[in-house]
Amino acid sequence: MNNTRLTITNRVRWTVSLICIVLILLAGAAATVACVRPDWVSGVKKALFRSGRSAVTVTTDENFPFKQSDDELTRIVSARFPLEEGFAPEDLTTLYDYKDRSFELARASIELRQPAYEAAQAMFTAAGEDGVKEFIISSGYRTRDYQQTLYDNSDTGYVNAPGESEHEYGLTFDVTTRTDRSDFSQTPQFEWLSAHCWEYGYILRYPEGKESLTGVPYESWHYRYVGKEAAKTIHEKGWCLEEYVALS
Ligand SMILES: [Zn+2]
Repeated sequence: MNNTRLTITNRVRWTVSLICIVLILLAGAAATVACVRPDWVSGVKKALFRSGRSAVTVTTDENFPFKQSDDELTRIVSARFPLEEGFAPEDLTTLYDYKDRSFELARASIELRQPAYEAAQAMFTAAGEDGVKEFIISSGYRTRDYQQTLYDNSDTGYVNAPGESEHEYGLTFDVTTRTDRSDFSQTPQFEWLSAHCWEYGYILRYPEGKESLTGVPYESWHYRYVGKEAAKTIHEKGWCLEEYVALS
């Protein structure tokens, strides 16, 4: 009788110990996964970006007669012509405040300068009338501090240094669409903008084939307001902004 009781007590002890050991092992495994996994995931992400997007190296054409514009609308903001420290546009407007917007916003805080907003509104309205909708503005004006943060946290090669980003000038937006699968250039929205953005004073700021002049890899999603006159000439001549300023 006593022996049987002893055996049962021992069994219970063993079972409890076993459960404890299993629980400790599980907790350890969970903690290991929690610590290791984020690094592993971001490591893979970085590798993908490195192998995919930033493989482009840009060599600037030093023989080109680069010139800065004396017109505010066509002013170049780049590594060669950085914005002065403390530059702050006075005509910024928060796009979210316009309830009849012809485009969507990735964030409620996105701002553009007034003329750039008005042109964008007209442009996306016209696109909608042509049956091309669902444009989403994903980025607009950026303060220098915000640009610094983006620059510090990016290893894609697609973020310009603070002072050298057009986004700090307030006449530029990045655009995407719900059907954009990480390549805006493959969307009908891109096709429409390529054909029509100049009619509204916008240009594709960093076109393919002009990297040695813009100093920036091709960006299908980045548009700059330069006014209708400049945009028309740039479109007709097949120029980038650097060529327009230096050659016209
Ligand atoms: Zn951009």
